[in-house]
Amino acid sequence: MVNIEKYKDIIKELQPQNVQLIAVSKFKPKEDIVTLYNEGHRDFGENYVQELVEKAESLSKDIRWHFIGHLQTNKVKLLLPYVSMIHSIDSFKLLKEVNKHAQILGKIIPVCIQVYVGNEDTKYGLDEKELIELLEYYQAQKNDLSNIKVQGLMGMASLTSDESVVESEFKKMNDLFWIVKNQYFLGEKEFCQLSMGMSMDYQLAIQHGSTMVRIGSTIFGQR
Ligand SMILES: *Cc1c(COP(=O)(O)O)cnc(C)c1O
Repeated sequence: MVNIEKYKDIIKELQPQNVQLIAVSKFKPKEDIVTLYNEGHRDFGENYVQELVEKAESLSKDIRWHFIGHLQTNKVKLLLPYVSMIHSIDSFKLLKEVNKHAQILGKIIPVCIQVYVGNEDTKYGLDEKELIELLEYYQAQKNDLSNIKVQGLMGMASLTSDESVVESEFKKMNDLFWIVKNQYFLGEKEFCQLSMGMSMDYQLAIQHGSTMVRIGSTIFGQR
């Protein structure tokens, strides 16, 4: 069951702070997506390529699909015709593969790079050293990567009820965002997204600079 009241509350809360809501609809039926669509919502997040593609094919074409799960390079081709933004780039190889298929389709795909700041529950993403390594490659080959637009960083905090741990991880992500912006994207206004915060921790994430929150269970119910 979609909780429309909760959805409206969240929208009201986010709007004055200029934070975008990605409604995470993984495992949820198309009818639930249509319910939010009819409230005017257009940005939905999915974790699995097959599921995103199936939903995208049968739902309105003006939905913006955000891919937020772990992406294998061999699924990029299937995903690209449908996706508006990929939040979860975690290797240079994947970045190149996305660029390649975007070029074939004549599209420019906005992406975020996924960083890892938590414990082992949130095992995907790059640590600081790997992030810098990827960005060095990116910078060196930027001219050949014109079909992707690196817009920011994405991350997840640890699944813990200890708020101080979650807070320090969000702070870390925000620090990384600014380090990367100053070092690699200075003066590029398109590098402006920090995708962090889920049902349990999105308010804390916003306090630490989140520009996109990815909320599932609070709106769509438990999975
Ligand atoms: C499932 C998922 C979400 C949404 O989580 P909720 O706790 O249901 O809000 C957000 N981001 C990612 C990467 C996810 O996999």
